Order: sequence, then C-alpha cells, then structure tokens
Amino acid sequence: MLNFTVGPVMSSEEILAIGAEQVPYFRTEEFSDMMFENERLMKDFVNAPKSAKTVFITGSGTASMEAVVMNVFNDSDKLLVVDGGSFGHRFVKLCEIHNIPHTAIKLDSGHVVTREILEKYSGFGYTGLLVNIHETSTGVHYDPELLGEFCKKEGLLYVVDAISSFLADSIDMTASGIDVIITGSQKVLACAPGISIIILGENAIERIYRNNTKTMYLDLKDALNNAERGQTPFTPAVGILRQINARLRQIKSNGGVQSEIDRVKAQAEDFRNKIIGLPFEIVSESMSNALTPLHPTTASAYDIFLKLKDEYGIWICPNGGDMKDTVFRVGHFGAITSKDNDTLISAFNDLRKNGFI
Ligand SMILES: *Cc1c(COP(=O)(O)O)cnc(C)c1O
Repeated sequence: MLNFTVGPVMSSEEILAIGAEQVPYFRTEEFSDMMFENERLMKDFVNAPKSAKTVFITGSGTASMEAVVMNVFNDSDKLLVVDGGSFGHRFVKLCEIHNIPHTAIKLDSGHVVTREILEKYSGFGYTGLLVNIHETSTGVHYDPELLGEFCKKEGLLYVVDAISSFLADSIDMTASGIDVIITGSQKVLACAPGISIIILGENAIERIYRNNTKTMYLDLKDALNNAERGQTPFTPAVGILRQINARLRQIKSNGGVQSEIDRVKAQAEDFRNKIIGLPFEIVSESMSNALTPLHPTTASAYDIFLKLKDEYGIWICPNGGDMKDTVFRVGHFGAITSKDNDTLISAFNDLRKNGFI
C-alpha cells in the first residue's frame, strides 16, 4: 500500500513496532512521566506560553473540537466561525448543537479569509473565533497571524484547529496570540488514529473552570486536573500515546519542529514540481504544505481515485459532496518520500498514456 491520503497515513517502522507491543497498565509513575514529556514537547513545538496546559483526549480530532466548543464557551458568547469547507462547517454544527451563538463567515471554496472580509465583523461584540487553520477539505491554509491580529484587536478568544497543519506549517501560539490549538494523532503526527490533543492558554483555562459544562467524558476540568499528575480521567488509548511519545522524541532528535516542517514542505514542493504538464489544476489560493488539492481537467476525480486504488495499490484522497468528481487531494505527510512521489507520478503518466486522463 502506498498512502497519499490525509490520514490515517503511513507510520514509520519505529511507530509501527510500538503498535505491535503489549499495552502496559497506565496508573504508574512511568506513564505519568511519559505524559509530562508529551506535554513538554507539544508545548515546545507550537511555542506555547509557559502557563499553557496540554490535554490528551481519547477520541479523534472532532472529539477535541467538540470538547473545546462545550467547555470554553457558553450561551453568553458570540462566536465567529470561519466556514470554508466541511471542517469549518463542523465547527458551525457544534455551535448549533451546544447552543453557542455564532456567525459563520462563509467562504467560496478554495478562497482565504482576508483582512477586508474580517473587518466586516469588527465592532459587533463577538467574543471568540473558531478556525480550521488548514481547511483540509479544500486544501486552503489561512494566515494564523492575520487572524491573530484581528482577534487581539477585537478581544476575541482565538481557537485554532491545526489538526492537519501541526508539523506541516509553522504555528506559533505565542506570536499569533492563539488561545487554543487542537491537533490529532493520525495526521502529520503519523500515528494510529484515536488521540486528539488540546493545548490551552491561560484565558481558555480560566473560562473552562468558570463554565458549568454538562458532560462526563469530555469534561476539560477533569482532564486538566488529571493532567497535573500526568494522568487522564479514564483509560486512554495508551498504545497511541506511546507512539506519540516516540514520534515527538524522533522529531526532537532529528532537529526539532522546523526540520519536520521543512521535510513536509520539501515533499510538497517535489510533488508540485513533478505534476507540471499533467492535466491537473491546483484549486486553492493558499496551500498548506500538508496537501495539494487538484482538479483533473480531463477525467472524474473519483474515477482516478478508484483506478489508482484498485489497479496500482496507491491511495490518493477523494473529496466528498459536490466536489466528488471535480477534486482529489494528495497528501505530503506520513512515512513517504520523493521516490514515492515518483511512483505516483508514473501511475499518472500511465493513466495518461492509456487515455484514462
Ligand atoms: C482530520 C481533521 C479533523 C478531525 O477529523 P477526525 O476524523 O475527527 O479526526 C478536524 N479538522 C481538520 C481540519 C482535519 O483535517
């Protein structure tokens, strides 16, 4: 299998080996020490302020999106939600479900949120902003600093879902004034799916303790209290937390977070250079290093996905909804190399020779 999707992606041999091991009991000092290290490295990699705290939720990225919406906000808030695709829309839905007053900033597919667009919402008493900094469904990367400046000027609590962007694009919690960052285990972290991670700044933590949130499993007060001793309220996905630990250590010993971002960036640039001449158009105004969204001009995107999967054993990422036939995405993270890009490009060339594309 050669996997160019946007997660789960291929893991390195070291991470795979951990997945094959027995899962240890976790109410121990050893597990707590590992969790403290996970927290330290996560905070280090996003340049979090000292006072920030990290919680590890057993559940995919959406569990952490929901936990943040429920625990940090309430019905006296008024949120702005950047809605540029299906993940932006997921935040809108979460606000609806949890009765958090909100306004969606609807963007045309493939387009970024600009200063001009944001200014239309200035001075209306908003209290927070939710954004998927890389809208993975359309492959658009928004500018974290531009949004941060707006949030600072308007006094908004700034929540960034960086689930597919963490380790692919630079993100600086301190410099951009971000209050909450969310990420997950199966994207650029390239571990098994099942853990999502929330880094919480002081203002968000204060709101969580003041709030009267009705939930047991996603209670962030409980998660924060347990994290003080390197623990979680309930049995976490222990095996995946051990994989995350190995992966974070690997990144650190290979030169740190910037080296990892550079590696993903090089993989993306290599691919983008090699598709020149193929009948594909890039459909994003501003891309993350994590993936390239492409519109094939001569064939159905979904047919190309099926053909590559069934006849070549190569997985690209299909799009859903009304983009099913018009857009597919190619990821640049996980244990893949420039040679793997060559394999994919040869398959595309093959399809071209056969008149399929
Ligand atoms: C993958 C992803 C999620 C989380 O999806 P899950 O399937 O719940 O892990 C959320 N937001 C973005 C931007 C993503 O790319």
